[in-house]
Amino acid sequence: MRAPISIIPDDPSPSDWRWQVRHAITTLAELEEVLVLSDAEREGARRAEAAGLPLSITPYYASLASRTDPACPIRRQCVPRIEEATEVEGDLRDPLGEEAHTVAPHLVSRYPDRALLLVTDRCSVYCRFCTRSRMVGQDGGARPLAELEPAFAWLAAHEAITDVVVSGGDPLIMNEPRLEAILKQLAGIPHLGTVRIATRAPVTLPQRIDAALCRVLRLFPATWVMTHFNHPRELSPESTRALAMLIDHGLPVMNQTVLLRGINDDAATLTALFKGLVARRVRPYYLLQADPVRGTSHLRTPLRRGVELMRELQGRVSGIALPKLVVDTPHGMGKVALGPEAIVREADGVTTLRTFRGEVDYVDPPR
Ligand SMILES: *Cc1c(COP(=O)(O)O)cnc(C)c1O
Ligand code: SF4
Repeated sequence: MRAPISIIPDDPSPSDWRWQVRHAITTLAELEEVLVLSDAEREGARRAEAAGLPLSITPYYASLASRTDPACPIRRQCVPRIEEATEVEGDLRDPLGEEAHTVAPHLVSRYPDRALLLVTDRCSVYCRFCTRSRMVGQDGGARPLAELEPAFAWLAAHEAITDVVVSGGDPLIMNEPRLEAILKQLAGIPHLGTVRIATRAPVTLPQRIDAALCRVLRLFPATWVMTHFNHPRELSPESTRALAMLIDHGLPVMNQTVLLRGINDDAATLTALFKGLVARRVRPYYLLQADPVRGTSHLRTPLRRGVELMRELQGRVSGIALPKLVVDTPHGMGKVALGPEAIVREADGVTTLRTFRGEVDYVDPPR
């Protein structure tokens, strides 16, 4: 990590989230100061400087990375590589068809009872596999409240919607007054039962989580926090503190992990991650097949790999630590849960089930 030399007299310290954002690594030159880059990374960073998904890495997140090893699971998530220039069959610019399902500016509705509100396009770290690489870091920053008015009006007019996912970008990169205004608007819509804040801040910017922020998040009566840890190395003392603070303030925390080739696509890594999360009172919710975002094929696994991994974990890892394996299907057709398939065969009221110990028959009661 770069030496945190403060040049502005009132510049806060690295333990302040604003310092982390202000000192984020955003250029190839800054990246070369902290990491020994491979050619593929150097070319990738040069490309990211010029166009597309920008480069940004907080000094904190960079401090978790290996200085010399390009295969490091932290580096692979945040350092661009030249493979991002490669497009393969099946790659999509907007893999979940969010633009086609936009019902008001910044509001996506793909399900009957929930909706997705994109309140900013900024993140502290840009993940190289991001589903929204088409728009994050491009398009104006935090959305002014006036620009979100039509989305609030749509939500207020649709009583079937009971759950709003607030995402972006990363909503927690916004300041408290803005978050407060959004949560108060949502709290004023009587049919909303839950608000979910989808954020990587506990992973990439844990300094952001403080008591004042937690109080703002509680302005909606049932705010859930959805985090995004992908590797056990991200479970640092700082992120552990951030998670404890959220939970101690009464905010339930769930985690969505993206399955990533060469980063977490093995049973031992996932087991350590999921057990580490539950030991911090965080419930692993989804293990997500990586979306077919253009230029991310080097980070993705075949669909079968996730099923194989779940088969390896099933029965061997506590149920509270096991997430559902989910694929968010292309073009916005919706999420589906995948196996492992437990039913081997069914005949005459006898169902043969495959458990982690082997096959066994289950006999139905007489009809
Ligand atoms: C993923 C997603 C949700 C939330 O889905 P859950 O399965 O309830 O977690 C809601 N809206 C959109 C548009 C989504 O992509
Ligand atoms: S934090 Fe989320 S929105 Fe931001 S770059 Fe990472 S995956 Fe994309």
